[in-house]
Amino acid sequence: MSVFSHPAYDNHEEVAFYHDAKSGLKAIIAVHNTNLGPALGGCRMWPYADDSEALNDVLRLSRGMTYKSAMAGLKLGGGKSVIIGDPRKQKTPELLRAMGDFLNTLGGRYITAEDSGTSVADMKVIAERSKFVSGVISGQEHGGDPSPSTAYGVFVGLQAAVAHRWGRTDLNGLRVSIQGVGNVGFRLGKLLKEAGAELFVTDIFQDNVDRAVSELGATAVGAEEIFDLDVDLFAPCALGAILNDNTIDRLKVGAIAGASNNQLAEARHAQVLKDKGILYAPDYVINAGGIIDVYYQQLGQEQGEYNAEQVKAHIETIGTTMQEVFQRADETGETTAHVADRIAEERFGHKDALNNSDSAAA
Ligand code: NAD
Repeated sequence: MSVFSHPAYDNHEEVAFYHDAKSGLKAIIAVHNTNLGPALGGCRMWPYADDSEALNDVLRLSRGMTYKSAMAGLKLGGGKSVIIGDPRKQKTPELLRAMGDFLNTLGGRYITAEDSGTSVADMKVIAERSKFVSGVISGQEHGGDPSPSTAYGVFVGLQAAVAHRWGRTDLNGLRVSIQGVGNVGFRLGKLLKEAGAELFVTDIFQDNVDRAVSELGATAVGAEEIFDLDVDLFAPCALGAILNDNTIDRLKVGAIAGASNNQLAEARHAQVLKDKGILYAPDYVINAGGIIDVYYQQLGQEQGEYNAEQVKAHIETIGTTMQEVFQRADETGETTAHVADRIAEERFGHKDALNNSDSAAA
């Protein structure tokens, strides 16, 4: 398994591996870029098939965080960590505390938070050992969980997409399909419903579907049917890589705006969407509400104050950033995904942006 010549290496500043024999912890921390500040990104726990799958994941995810934070206007770099193991079977307090020891070895260059397979409660255990943990704020309504902020950011970005695509500022009667009504998707649905939108939802868990039907008046559709619906806008809020050769052809929507990370199966799918006349809200721009919230939680830990109004105002800048992306894409004829990468690179000082070269982000 190579590191420096890994296809996803992309000039990472640091990749650290850690093994704690006593607790069984095997983890990797990847710090992609710290030009704008310390690297902040979640800690994912997943039963990776092998080490190289874990390395590939952490490298891709940490690079994505550099772009996300730069685009969100945060003084943060990009990083991520992965714990190799099944969160339902192998997660113990000892293992989480050992993760805290691992964090300390980087001395604050990387700050962690919750992600798939880890929770606010887990972060609190890690925080027993390390101060380089965010998303654990107490005394706030959300208890540290970034999902409500992510949902609000997606809502704001979705409004910008609707304004650009259809020239309208209200969502009344807009038909929106949501794939995945979990932590983010359900909250997004609630905001959309309040704004007068008509919802169509799918989820692999029936109780999540039932909740959306009864509380949001949504129409339940099948897992595959969601791609064929005659609706205005599609909001992917479940998994990555769902915009692919099998799905894009079937979509009848005018815009895509949702929370999922890595929605495009491959970079070229941004062009396929554009050619079909579908406006795509780049995922890491629209789903940055969570990292914005976690940033302010971290700041609050250091300075003793977390101001919910300030967080909300910052999340609302996702709307103006989205407008900037859409406008520049119209002006240059490039895809929105490409334009977002270029703006992010200008902000964090990517070598290509500094050299004013034309090479695109992978
Ligand atoms: P979640 O696990 O709470 O919700 C995801 C939902 O999708 C679940 O209800 C799950 O059953 C459903 N699902 C999974 N596979 C599905 C499928 N094939 N078809 C239909 N439904 C399916 O996760 P979440 O926190 O709501 O996050 C949703 C997405 O947003 C993820 O891709 C996540 O990476 C991304 N995201 C989340 C946050 C956050 O703050 N939670 C921040 C940024 C990005």
